[in-house]
Amino acid sequence: MDSNKVRQAFLDFFRDKQHEIVPSAPMVVKNDPTLMFTNAGMNQFKDIFLGNAPRKYPRVADTQKCLRVSGKHNDLEEVGHDTYHHTMFEMLGNWSYGDYFKKEAIEWAWELLTEVYKLDKSRMYATVFEGSDEDGVAFDQEAYDYWKQFLPEDHIIRGNKKDNFWEMGETGPCGPCSEIHFDLRDADEVAKTPGRDMVNMGHPQVIEIWNLVFMQFNRKANGSLEPLPAKNVDTGMGFERLCMILQGKKSNYDTDVFQPTISRIAALSGKEYGKDEKCDVAMRVIADHLRAISFSIADGQLPANAKAGYVIRRILRRAVRYGYTYLGFTEPFICKLVDGLVKQMGHQFPELVAQQHLIERVIEEEETSFLRTLATGINLLDGVIKKSANSKISGKDAFVLYDTYGFPIDLTELIAKEQGVEVDIEEFEKELQVQKERSRNAASQDIDDWQEVMPITESTFIGYDTLTADVRIARYRRVKSKNIVTYQLVFDHTPFYGNSGGQIGDTGYIESINEKIDIIATEKENGLIIHIAKQLPENPAAEFRAVVNADARTKAANNHTATHLVDYALRTVLGTHVEQKGSMVGPVGLRFDFSHFQKVTAEELREVERLVNKLIRENHPLKENREATMVEAEAAGAIMLFGEKYGDKVRIVNFGPSTELCGGTHASATGNIGLFKIISESAISAGVRRIEAVTGEAAENMVYTAQDMISSLEQLVHNPKVVQAIEKIVENNDSLSREIADMRKEKVESLAKTLAENTPLRSGVTLITHTAHHTPEVMKDLAFALRQKVERLVMVIGNLHEGKPTLNIMLTDNIVECGVDAGAVVREAAKLINGGGGGQKHYATAGGKNPDGLQAAVDKAVELIMAKVIK
Ligand code: ATP
Ligand code: MG
Repeated sequence: MDSNKVRQAFLDFFRDKQHEIVPSAPMVVKNDPTLMFTNAGMNQFKDIFLGNAPRKYPRVADTQKCLRVSGKHNDLEEVGHDTYHHTMFEMLGNWSYGDYFKKEAIEWAWELLTEVYKLDKSRMYATVFEGSDEDGVAFDQEAYDYWKQFLPEDHIIRGNKKDNFWEMGETGPCGPCSEIHFDLRDADEVAKTPGRDMVNMGHPQVIEIWNLVFMQFNRKANGSLEPLPAKNVDTGMGFERLCMILQGKKSNYDTDVFQPTISRIAALSGKEYGKDEKCDVAMRVIADHLRAISFSIADGQLPANAKAGYVIRRILRRAVRYGYTYLGFTEPFICKLVDGLVKQMGHQFPELVAQQHLIERVIEEEETSFLRTLATGINLLDGVIKKSANSKISGKDAFVLYDTYGFPIDLTELIAKEQGVEVDIEEFEKELQVQKERSRNAASQDIDDWQEVMPITESTFIGYDTLTADVRIARYRRVKSKNIVTYQLVFDHTPFYGNSGGQIGDTGYIESINEKIDIIATEKENGLIIHIAKQLPENPAAEFRAVVNADARTKAANNHTATHLVDYALRTVLGTHVEQKGSMVGPVGLRFDFSHFQKVTAEELREVERLVNKLIRENHPLKENREATMVEAEAAGAIMLFGEKYGDKVRIVNFGPSTELCGGTHASATGNIGLFKIISESAISAGVRRIEAVTGEAAENMVYTAQDMISSLEQLVHNPKVVQAIEKIVENNDSLSREIADMRKEKVESLAKTLAENTPLRSGVTLITHTAHHTPEVMKDLAFALRQKVERLVMVIGNLHEGKPTLNIMLTDNIVECGVDAGAVVREAAKLINGGGGGQKHYATAGGKNPDGLQAAVDKAVELIMAKVIK
């Protein structure tokens, strides 16, 4: 069964069991501070489990793109070394929200595996939760009994909390689970050790394929469990592992999911897969990471220096490094694998097809720059190895290479070992730990549990239509971050816009009869709108008047509308390949990132600015549809973003020719924006450009600033024709400079002549030594002029210019031949002026801080030189 059929069979099976088939959520998570990437199928349903959002369907199934490279689930170090953990993988899942429970979950899993996929029953094992006294949860007898219908008792295994109690994170939904394991080993091995003893022992051929989680608790911040409002089912099956079993392979990488890529890597590197373990690991790493990187970029997460972007950058670098070290790639190669991946997976994941060009460009640029880093790092490492002179490389040095140059520790070790040197890993680990502590402390947050004041299922945003409302606090909690305590408040409904979709959240206040509390920011987290206050109201149950800061909101709304117009204008001026790659809109201004493959020229920018201002003058009114379906949105030609998670109902925002899907707040008509001015255009990564701009009053002020500058210039040049006047000044300046240069040359010439002719010989040497007050240019020219004129020259001049002493030495070659090194001399003599310097054997200079020592320094230099010359 090829992998596409395997996936389809799963979805068809659950569709027949009345499940709604939903699309995969983006792999990159926005609006959830506890999670950077989707790490399980259930993430996108977290709100429903927590009771923050209503369920849309009682039963759902899908395939979800997951990435396990950070946080609680991190498999990165295993990937490539083993054959069944990936960074990015597909998780097939089915869900029930308060509908069916353990019985159906187990029966259907069995039916699918044995009747549709026809897996060998004798090779299957199930685990059930043994219970936990600590948590007060009993042995899962129920699940055990259902399994007993299908499996002999010696194929049902009791598992502990680590394996059989699934938790999404430190807090949140959780529950006992029942895993299905499969034994792939050859018959003779099975005969030696029964599979039962191999389950959960980390054997690569006795592996977990499916986890059925019976989600019924919420883990609170103090560690205790609280029953969820409804009993739910959440299952996850590793798609690539399933394919391996169904295709009779022993490694995920031998399936049709990875083989095409591996063949291409083999062809590009000229190495064969399956011949050498190290090369095999490298090929697996690259084949795996290619998917993780490509899918993240398609989801809008580009490699970057911090947070999620940094995680992606590190995955990419890991792949480059394995290719470089074990497969001999010294030029970008991962970018060449994208095309094949897109052909293979683009059918199921159309975002790959749409973004192929960008993915290739971004990867190529990252590879190029990291390959350069690797080369630099290797040079540095050579230096460190030499310095260590066959003792150990210190952990500190290794850490600097790692931290500052992105040079991986295992590579440091490898190269060091090749040269017979060890690395002090213990010390390195210590340094790493210290750094981790530091960043953990910087980021540490203490979040208390929510305190419920009144129950709500949803907190609606009513701020499209009003900036004030009577509200009640539904729940609140205390958050301590870097020793600052704030309170997060959720209202029953709110006019405050929560930070999302690039628009900064509102500020304002809430007021009851007794008190007034400032709202310093508004965030959006897992569908909840969270208002941040420095203090908690004395009586949280009171009724409050909520008031949004209208000035800031209006400016942010105008900037948001301007952003849509910019998007439209860019697509008109540059072409429809332009796609939004991020934006930031607030009261102060706007920032818009977009895909485009060269610098936007000044003319193009001007054209964009003109078009936006024209649309502003045309005063297009806001037309919106808050309850559109995706089909309607597509029909309206609305611009949608990749990697954005849209609900079933979307909001269409239209201004004249611009139509976008958007949840932000907007001007009631484009005329409100007033004026639009671009501040800058720059590159933020390969193929992605950024425009920063301002509107309204800020744009007006920009014009004033420019006008003021022109007025100042007019006054300065006493001429209303500023440009012509300055042109003249520049011209004048050029000719004056030339004249000065000529005069200097003459002066130096005559000075050199006088010195050369009037200095008596000493021991056959023209010894020119004195202190002077020349500019540095004259000093240098003089030295070279003397060298031209004098037969045997020793020039030592102590020069004092603008209070700064310098020592200048010039020698003819016949003096150097006596064994004199001007560089060495200058270094020694410069100590007397508290300075340092250097140069060549015949010409050297040094600067210092002590003018009083200048004469002594000159004398010292003369003494050192003459000692060699006379000898
Ligand atoms: P394992 O113990 O093998 O790491 P897990 O307990 O971490 O698995 P779950 O969190 O229960 O796995 O995820 C559900 C299913 O997803 C697993 O049964 C497995 O088939 C699959 N899976 C988990 N992690 C990976 C991974 N890194 N790569 C591929 N498939 C995975
Ligand atoms: Mg795991």
